Amino acid sequence: MTPVAALCFKALDLPVEGLDLCGEVTFEALDLHEDALFTFLSPLRFTLRAEPVQEGVLVRGRLEGEVQRVCDRCLEPGKVLLEVDPVCYHYEEVAGAEVDLTEAVREDILLAFPQTWVCRADCRGLCPRCGSNRNESTCGCPAEEPDEGDEDDDTWGALDDLVVRDDS
Ligand SMILES: [Zn+2]
Ligand SMILES: [Zn+2]
Repeated sequence: MTPVAALCFKALDLPVEGLDLCGEVTFEALDLHEDALFTFLSPLRFTLRAEPVQEGVLVRGRLEGEVQRVCDRCLEPGKVLLEVDPVCYHYEEVAGAEVDLTEAVREDILLAFPQTWVCRADCRGLCPRCGSNRNESTCGCPAEEPDEGDEDDDTWGALDDLVVRDDS
């Protein structure tokens, strides 16, 4: 049976042996939008199989797509693979109804977006004094000391302590 390239199907048409749903959907179609942190590099690919079960329909498979994410330390963008594997949705009381997976897929992939991300484990981040990317060059600024009285510097200093601890 030819796979269906959509995220919805009629429960009534579901063959006993199941129905393959394979295709792509844009993040925008899932009502997910680019922001300061994320850029979409590919549509979201879905490879799913819907099967009739005793109580409704069971959908299993996987989702994947590539996005660009800004590094938390050096602010350079890098590529991140978003993956949800396995996907598993169960729908009850679907007799005659159209089953639309869009909302479930949206929720799943939303959770796959990393809340924190660094371009590499040893990313050295930005110099808190001059702002240059310390992965690319050594700026020659003196090693930062906690600077009493300036709140911004304190924030950066605390962040840097975290980074140092992380690396050790
Ligand atoms: Zn980085
Ligand atoms: Zn510097």
